[in-house]
Amino acid sequence: MIQLGRPSIGPEEIAAVQRVLLSGRLVQGSNVARFESTVAEYLGVKHAVAVSSGTAALHLALMGLGVSEGDRVIVPAYTFPATANVVEILGATPVFVDVEPASFNLDPEQVRAEVEGSSDDPSRRISCIMPVHAFGHMSEMKEIRRIAREFAIPVVEDAACALGASIDGCPPGSWGEAACLSFHPRKVITTGEGGMVVTDRDDFADHLRMLRNHGQSARDAMGDFAEAGLNYRLSEVGGAIGVAQMKKLDRFLAARAAVAATYGELLIASSVRVPSVLEGHRHAFQAFVVLLPKRGPGPPTDVIGAMRKQGVEVTVGTWNVPLAPYYRKRYGFSEGNFPVADDLLNRALALPMHPLLEEDERRQVAGRLMETLHEGAHAQ
Ligand SMILES: *Cc1c(COP(=O)(O)O)cnc(C)c1O
Repeated sequence: MIQLGRPSIGPEEIAAVQRVLLSGRLVQGSNVARFESTVAEYLGVKHAVAVSSGTAALHLALMGLGVSEGDRVIVPAYTFPATANVVEILGATPVFVDVEPASFNLDPEQVRAEVEGSSDDPSRRISCIMPVHAFGHMSEMKEIRRIAREFAIPVVEDAACALGASIDGCPPGSWGEAACLSFHPRKVITTGEGGMVVTDRDDFADHLRMLRNHGQSARDAMGDFAEAGLNYRLSEVGGAIGVAQMKKLDRFLAARAAVAATYGELLIASSVRVPSVLEGHRHAFQAFVVLLPKRGPGPPTDVIGAMRKQGVEVTVGTWNVPLAPYYRKRYGFSEGNFPVADDLLNRALALPMHPLLEEDERRQVAGRLMETLHEGAHAQ
């Protein structure tokens, strides 16, 4: 089977893990601290706070901003459910905004309409904007930052897929209060499970470090429990893997870009639309998501099944969150509320994408996809 994603783990990671295991220090040691400073330096931010997952990073960042009951937070309709779930878990309300078909990212015009439409009513005011950099392509952050500044709304980037991405050289973390990374095995680098919040704000970083560690103050000598916190720490094992992975990040990104380029060439004459890269953007290609030709309602389970039968693991792009049973039931969403997200759920297909994908495997993937779609057309 040609796998959808595959972590690239070598002898460096294995040796690093062994060193941690033999050291007798599995938590709160130097490996996590080194991982944090490496990522902070790479992104050009002052602080990086490592946590146990990308979801933990999102949760902690919103907690740190004080998002709670009565708050309304803009999130894209088309995203991994964690983006909206953390808002919901804090008792706040996710305000879904539809995305743009070309970039899979928040439509800034609709963000503006939502922010302007609710700015006069204090009970409906937007408390935070959470753009998602879908599949490693940055959202239109210049436009979003302009809106956020105009209305004094904090921005938290869901950069789970976007380590390595940038706009005019400006990476996640340079656009708002904070950016949240994930190190799940399908992301650009992995620590098994893991995540990070990056920020330039000193007080905010201190607060997050406290919240991540049971609410215990890291600053005063007594280490008082100043607040009710969580245990969202990353283990030393994860930290050590992260340091080793960061050394390979540039190679990983180059390999992913090469896979994307081959797919682009192979599929140019097909009926599928390959992802576009907006001007000035660097795409991290966490995933390579194509759009199938117009088709009936429902996710492309037929194509996914046929491809898997031929040894190629593919899956949907991501999720139309308002149509998930929980959100349908809670807010009464249905098909038609977010037409672009509806269309993407039915047509987006993630192809195998990882740094180890060989040239002949890329050809097989593209070949099987074209065959599958051709057969589909015949059967109609
Ligand atoms: C992967 C992902 C998350 C969640 O990260 P985990 O580390 O799996 O918790 C959140 N948002 C987006 C957009 C993601 O792709």
